[in-house]
Amino acid sequence: MSDFKDTFDKQEKHMFKPEWEKEKTPDQERMISEVLERLPDFVKKFGGNPVSIKSKNIHFLDAEKIKADGEIKENYIQYDYNNQLVSICPTDNESKTIEVLVHELMHFNSFMSVGQEEKHVSKKGYNTRVGFSIIGEKYLLNDLNEAVTQELAMRFIEDYYKNPYMRKAGEFVSRQSEVSRLNEIMDKILMYNSKEFKSKEEVFRIFAESYFSGNLMKIGRLMDKTFGKGTFRHYAETGDYLNNSGPRKRGRKKYK
Ligand SMILES: [Zn+2]
Repeated sequence: MSDFKDTFDKQEKHMFKPEWEKEKTPDQERMISEVLERLPDFVKKFGGNPVSIKSKNIHFLDAEKIKADGEIKENYIQYDYNNQLVSICPTDNESKTIEVLVHELMHFNSFMSVGQEEKHVSKKGYNTRVGFSIIGEKYLLNDLNEAVTQELAMRFIEDYYKNPYMRKAGEFVSRQSEVSRLNEIMDKILMYNSKEFKSKEEVFRIFAESYFSGNLMKIGRLMDKTFGKGTFRHYAETGDYLNNSGPRKRGRKKYK
């Protein structure tokens, strides 16, 4: 992992133009340090190993300058796993900025493997994993990865503001369709595995732990058990967990 560490320390090769970067205001620095202070405990709660992130790993970009250069600003709101940095375009809406920042910082803390690590290179040649996403010839499980990232971000923020009703009040904006699909899957898992799980929270823990550890086995087994054999593989490849064409005995009729 030495390449990774070098990149992390040096902060080189940004994907954005250096002149797009905006200096952070004192208020923004305070907001960042409050988030960074709380994040490690939150990550540990779900079995993750918090990454040490500094304000210098977070870059605030000027959306106007990006637009003036003819680029689309959304492309630059991201966790850049190659360079170990987060870049966002902050707006005057502080809660929206925090939401985007926390979302990207969850990606930063999620499981990551790089191609050089032999044990993660599968026969199919997938060589990089970030959270659930398997990045290779195809980009697999990206919806699930975004859903769990955002679900974690919303929980963190509700906690941060000590306001557990923000979700109900519709105050979150990112990745809401992925989140509702994840919740649909979790509801069904709970419904059909009531002996194993007493609450949806217990089901979510399996997803969150897997997001941070990178171990997909439990999720795979659980989805196959609930929706029929081969579902997880089909879901990974197509994003569809209901119409697996494999040897499904249970679930097909039920879930149509
Ligand atoms: Zn994301």
